[in-house]
Amino acid sequence: MFDNLSDKLDKALHVLKGHGSITEVNVAETLKEVRRALLDADVNFKIAKEFTTKVKEKALGQNVLTALQPGQLMVKLVKDELTELMGGDAAGINLQGTPSIILMSGLQGSGKTTFSGKLANFLKTKKSKKPLLVACDVYRPAAINQLHVVGDQIGVEVYSEPENKNPVSIAQNAIAHAKSNGHNVVIIDTAGRLAVDEAMMAEIENVHKAIQPQETLFVVDSMTGQDAVNTAKAFNDRLNFDGVVLTKLDGDTRGGAAISIKSVVNKPIKFIGTGEKMDAIDVFYPSRMAERILG
Ligand code: GDP
Repeated sequence: MFDNLSDKLDKALHVLKGHGSITEVNVAETLKEVRRALLDADVNFKIAKEFTTKVKEKALGQNVLTALQPGQLMVKLVKDELTELMGGDAAGINLQGTPSIILMSGLQGSGKTTFSGKLANFLKTKKSKKPLLVACDVYRPAAINQLHVVGDQIGVEVYSEPENKNPVSIAQNAIAHAKSNGHNVVIIDTAGRLAVDEAMMAEIENVHKAIQPQETLFVVDSMTGQDAVNTAKAFNDRLNFDGVVLTKLDGDTRGGAAISIKSVVNKPIKFIGTGEKMDAIDVFYPSRMAERILG
């Protein structure tokens, strides 16, 4: 995960660590390399620039030049800032409702259906919940089947109405079904498109309004870099979602989405997907991710 970024940051900070005496020029050069590493990881220019400006201010404020271990101090400042940029503390998921309703949104192929299954499995096995999965994609019968396959795999009931073409009524019926059958979490998988389009947005907005979920999660493929951030912005403008799920972090992803999405939409990353299997889900901890990136 983020190997390239880790290597580059390591090299950038290594220079500073090796110096007996540190000068302002060394610090400036290091920060320039850090910025380059972030840009290479597909972090947008403005965020990368702000990042290094903040680290520089802190470095000067903490007298990095006269510190006993200036290299170590710089690594810490970069790590702290990276943690902050990715959201600071871990954000929890709201499971207050009876049942708690979780609405999944995102483009087709982002990993929405897979993640719906992973989340149901996580809540069932780790939080002793009784989830209900709901197939609300009224366009692709294959998507409904896919959710049934996932549900069978993890032993979670799947609610679908293949003949019903109205996602709002499917979602409402599913919630009624959950209430009368003792399900305390309802996870609604919605239809995605290959790109942001008005019909999709209007549809999910309607479902969102009608069912008032406790949690609306936006699922995005981390491999798509800056596009992931732009798509997040488009969905957030319409849904004001509660959190982000970054999928496919097991792939050769550069890291830009993980690093910049929080500061663009001001919503936390709540979970990550790290594989195709049902247990490849992790709660997102910004500090652990920063630790991992900086080694
Ligand atoms: P949806 O169209 O948004 O519902 O996306 P799917 O859940 O069908 O996922 C699209 C593809 O991505 C499938 O082949 C999944 O197996 C794969 N996928 C989903 N999440 C992950 C992940 O975290 N890692 C990897 N490597 N593949 C994933």
